[in-house]
Amino acid sequence: MPMLTQADLQPLNQTFEERTPEEILRWASEVFGTRVAALSAMQMAGSTVCHMISRLKLDIPIVFVDTGVNFQETLETRDRVGREYGLEIVTLMPRQTMEEQTKERGILYLTPEGQKECCHLRKTEPLYTVRGRYDAMIGSLRRADGGRRDRCPFLMVDTELHSVRINPLANMTDEELDAYIAQNEVIVNPLHHQGFSTIGCNRCTTPVLPNEPKRAGRWRHLGPWSVYCGINPNERDEMAALHIDLPQEVIDKLLGRTTDFAI
Ligand code: SF4
Repeated sequence: MPMLTQADLQPLNQTFEERTPEEILRWASEVFGTRVAALSAMQMAGSTVCHMISRLKLDIPIVFVDTGVNFQETLETRDRVGREYGLEIVTLMPRQTMEEQTKERGILYLTPEGQKECCHLRKTEPLYTVRGRYDAMIGSLRRADGGRRDRCPFLMVDTELHSVRINPLANMTDEELDAYIAQNEVIVNPLHHQGFSTIGCNRCTTPVLPNEPKRAGRWRHLGPWSVYCGINPNERDEMAALHIDLPQEVIDKLLGRTTDFAI
């Protein structure tokens, strides 16, 4: 199978610095057709991407990983986004309930090693069940979130999911995101109004104080705010070889070799 490397994406990544998120989403739909989806955890930025996809009338489904221990507010936000934006929501779930997992392996999320295992079982493994279904997965990572996201590119190869990760909001500032949400009355997970700057599972997420880093509420019990679940390729501890295999015609289209839809 032909290979696509991170280096191949570099020219497009430079071009995308000057493009709007909407232009990048249109490009993704045009290039990948029915083989692109958007991954959303129903946080503020993810809801914004959903709103854009809906407003642009793009036929892109939304993939949501239900870990079985999400906040009720997150599940209700997912349902509202699907209903009010007219989007297809694909919900993926772990093989075991949290109760079954705990019975078999204990309370994993209390230790750094257990957290990695738990996030793998409840987040990344369910996502990998769609491996091979999509050549591209849209996300909502922003450099403004800091940490391991502070140099996040628009396009990344994801060697685990075997797809191209697309982050149309990569260079959107906090102020720009807030402005888009206010102007468009984007559906926002109500937990954001209760002090949660980022939102994950109910076992591992707390609100943050005004002077704390944004991710201070994630795995607070494990500290020191450097923990990630590994669902995004730039946040994994070990980066595998930076290439993925894709059909040649998809690579040619992606790199603008066979289409005039280059932006
Ligand atoms: S965030 Fe916590 S509960 Fe959720 S999958 Fe990761 S370790 Fe498990």
